[in-house]
Amino acid sequence: MTRPYYIAGNWKMHKTRAEAAELAVALVDQLKDGKHKYLVAPGFTLLETVAPIVKGTNIRLGAQNCAAEEQGAHTGEVSVLQLKDLGVQTVILGHSERRHIYKEDDALINKKLKLALAHGFEVILCIGELLEEREAGKAEAVCETQTVKGLEGVAVADLGRIVIAYEPVWAIGTGKTATPEDADAIHAFVRGVIAKLYGQAAAEAIIIQYGGSVKPENAAQLMAKENIDGALVGGAALKAGAFVPIAKFG
Ligand code: PEP
Repeated sequence: MTRPYYIAGNWKMHKTRAEAAELAVALVDQLKDGKHKYLVAPGFTLLETVAPIVKGTNIRLGAQNCAAEEQGAHTGEVSVLQLKDLGVQTVILGHSERRHIYKEDDALINKKLKLALAHGFEVILCIGELLEEREAGKAEAVCETQTVKGLEGVAVADLGRIVIAYEPVWAIGTGKTATPEDADAIHAFVRGVIAKLYGQAAAEAIIIQYGGSVKPENAAQLMAKENIDGALVGGAALKAGAFVPIAKFG
């Protein structure tokens, strides 16, 4: 089965509206002949600026998180209804910065994921082990738990709107990239977890991105691996000069 490549840029807590607009305009122009699936995930305050720039192009609009409740007294949170109103199509959930800095657990991530699916969003579910977990030989177990718990209660019919991003925490923003072989091994393992949960066809269809210091220099080698179907890019997503060559790897 041939899965489409999906390259996503997570802008994290960077950029003003003017800077975001400038980057979005450059990406729309430089990726218009790109062959893969693309997404940008600007910060919440930038979504309204970036939405009209990417609308109708081959670049999807993503948010970096959402609240676990639809609406109500939740100071400082952003709801799926508000994201939908802005034209957001995809929500990134379970990013390691949410898990480890803001202490989001699998149950909360699962609640958000089901709410986002119920409102029609695509979800990029991030999973990945800490360095000490890898060194203790627990990388697969951690990824299995995060996948199983993150997807609890999700029907096979909705799996087409789920993307998994394997992001070893020790490789995020550190300049250290998993070797293509190590990343591919975890991707294959996670695909096996999906097969156990949802069957072989669903496992073969699901897109599994790699994230962790993806750069123009390493994108093609990572993407050449059988089970690596794209990338979730942080630092290198902040400049068109770095993101475009990743998005057009090969
Ligand atoms: C990320 O934030 O998802 C990420 C992979 O960051 P970086 O590319 O900077 O390692």
